[in-house]
Amino acid sequence: MEPHRYQVVITDTDHTTLEEEKEVFGQIGADLVVAQVSGEEDVIRACKEADGLINQYALLTRRVLENLPKCKVIARYGVGVDSIDLKAATDLGIIVANVPDYCVDEVADQALALILALTRKITFFDQKIKSNEWDFQQGRPIHRIRGKILGLIGCGRIGLEVAKRLSPFGVRAIAFDPYIDKAPEGIVLKGLDEVLKDSDILSIHCPLNASTHHLISEDAFQSMKKRPLLINTSRGAIVDEDALVRALRDGRISGAGLDVLEKEPPDSQNPLLGMGNVVLSPHVSFYSEESIKELKHRTAENVAEVLVGRWPRSAVNRDVAGKTRALIPR
Ligand code: NAD
Repeated sequence: MEPHRYQVVITDTDHTTLEEEKEVFGQIGADLVVAQVSGEEDVIRACKEADGLINQYALLTRRVLENLPKCKVIARYGVGVDSIDLKAATDLGIIVANVPDYCVDEVADQALALILALTRKITFFDQKIKSNEWDFQQGRPIHRIRGKILGLIGCGRIGLEVAKRLSPFGVRAIAFDPYIDKAPEGIVLKGLDEVLKDSDILSIHCPLNASTHHLISEDAFQSMKKRPLLINTSRGAIVDEDALVRALRDGRISGAGLDVLEKEPPDSQNPLLGMGNVVLSPHVSFYSEESIKELKHRTAENVAEVLVGRWPRSAVNRDVAGKTRALIPR
């Protein structure tokens, strides 16, 4: 008798190649099917025989999951798993896995790039020169980076990497993070008010949730005493954008480097688009050719691990242990 071949279905993807996925599933002899479906009925039809799923945006609701009797694991391309009904997956014994750290270097590099572009006024001068103005005086004042204080809002994987990158520039790091007891070496934990008050550069690296929505509010801008730069590579809605515009106009902060906005892409009338001390990028921090390859490879590995009877590197619903459909130990 032929040994059972596993079937893995990619519900939907906007990645243009499948090299990494094919390599991983080739090693365990699993068949890979790309469905490109989104509605509940289509997802159920396409995934009915699947032992494992890879998912990008298609919603995997309780009704969908209840109709996938063979599915043992769902791996999401990325960090967030909001497309998957986690509770339903756990109830049904399906392991859900993500890749929480595939782009830590890229996001930290982006934050550093925004900080350097603003402090050395790179994009400001670039625009001036291209409109035929060659005059460094227009960029005054520029301040030395050495000796400045970096304030992190959120001191997890990315925040730490930003602090490490700036340390050789002679920048000290302080951080507000209510969920850690001890800061990594070289970083001093402080209360939010102190971080807002003492920082020359504020860089946001916490997740967006109910408690961080508009965490950087009008009040927070009022607490900033050193006309800091504000850097946001996390999520737009952590900053109250109207309050940010007022703070920039009043000179209460000296500039902003933003990879994320409350509304993406922004309206053409968004005042931030016309400000010389604002540097923008289009929510690109996660991306490099290498990070995407790593994401694809590790997403496929998360599925393959479960199919061969092991826990994936990052299970999101660890509480499914003991009732998994896959034959893996607790
Ligand atoms: P992480 O989980 O390692 O670190 C997040 C830190 O934020 C944790 O230490 C946590 O304790 C802290 N935190 C939680 N709530 C907080 C609060 N109310 N105030 C202050 N700190 C709080 O996550 P990470 O890998 O460092 O990623 C950070 C964020 O970066 C993600 O949540 C995501 O929104 C963002 N991100 C953006 C991109 C992009 O392309 N722009 C890519 C990846 C990640």
